[in-house]
Amino acid sequence: MAERVSHQPRGEGVLQQGADILVQGEAAFEGRMERLRALLEEQGLDAMLVTHPDHVWYLTGFTWGQHDYLLVRGDRAVLVVRPTEYEEARAGTHACEVRVAEGKEMERMVADAMAGLGAVAFEPPSLSVQRLESLRARLPERVNLVPGADLVGEMRAVKEAWELELIRKACRVFDGMMEEVVPQLRPGMSENEMAARLEFAARCRGADGFWFPSKVVSGPRSAFPHGRPSAREAGAGELLTIDMGPTWARYPSDATRTVVFGPCSSEVERIYESVRRAQEAALKVCRPGVSCAEVDRAARAVLEEAGYGPFFIHPVGHGVGGPPLVAPGVERPLLAGMVITVEPGVYIPGFGGVRIEDTVAITPDGREVLHSYPKELMVL
Ligand code: ZN
Ligand code: ZN
Repeated sequence: MAERVSHQPRGEGVLQQGADILVQGEAAFEGRMERLRALLEEQGLDAMLVTHPDHVWYLTGFTWGQHDYLLVRGDRAVLVVRPTEYEEARAGTHACEVRVAEGKEMERMVADAMAGLGAVAFEPPSLSVQRLESLRARLPERVNLVPGADLVGEMRAVKEAWELELIRKACRVFDGMMEEVVPQLRPGMSENEMAARLEFAARCRGADGFWFPSKVVSGPRSAFPHGRPSAREAGAGELLTIDMGPTWARYPSDATRTVVFGPCSSEVERIYESVRRAQEAALKVCRPGVSCAEVDRAARAVLEEAGYGPFFIHPVGHGVGGPPLVAPGVERPLLAGMVITVEPGVYIPGFGGVRIEDTVAITPDGREVLHSYPKELMVL
């Protein structure tokens, strides 16, 4: 056993970044568990079965992905993982017992851990019908498994100071990556190559992953807001949109810049300036007490005025590592400590698109834009 432990990888980078979280120690995770338990009590629930990977990670510091089960009861918390995750989970998990099982045994173990409970909430978006049915077939007497509200998601909406610091570091990786790589980009390079160069630079700067698959799209493909990089080679006079989310100690950033390979047409200039002014207008209204819908409206008004209203086809932003969605009709107010994106865009089918996005922290008296990479139109 001792020998197995000695063979565990001990990458320096991993330890350095992990240290940011480890400094918070067991207490941070215990604190989160206690807050969740208080919320459960308020709702008349005996326990919560947490299956969303980000939520399991938020509460314990560990998750492998979609196969973990975390049962949070009033008296204890139990994390059930597969044998392939067990050693890693034991080494890096806080505030819960770690147990190991495989296949249907996982559901049996989780169900057994519910013995003596009544109402247990589950997270509908992250529990498949198949796993839910497998659990229901094994539930102890009197346990009632019910769809729960997004309690853990809501807990994550407002960040603690040390979490904000990690998000800041992730944002700095994005900015540094852009400063290093954008000057190297040339017409004739494929979207795949440009994405690879950017991701390599981000990893070298300490990113431990990416929040979402990088979107690096050129020419007419830049009109796909969620386009993935392809073998397409960028050409002269074309737009290039780079939307990436390097993570630091798993805390995400999310930013977008759009650049042009010269020569730049007056139409591109007009679209770009409209999006830039829309983003500026939306950033200006971000502060505690302002509703998410108002932030969206501020950007949308600028683009409608410029005649691009029909081409702004998504909400202006979203929470980074938790709610809220910053969209029309979302009347909830922004709170100090929330981190959101502000990312208006204009997408002209067959021509191309422009999006400008920053990760933004809401502060007690306004906002802090966490990116410093320039937003003036850049012609390469
Ligand atoms: Zn983005
Ligand atoms: Zn985004």
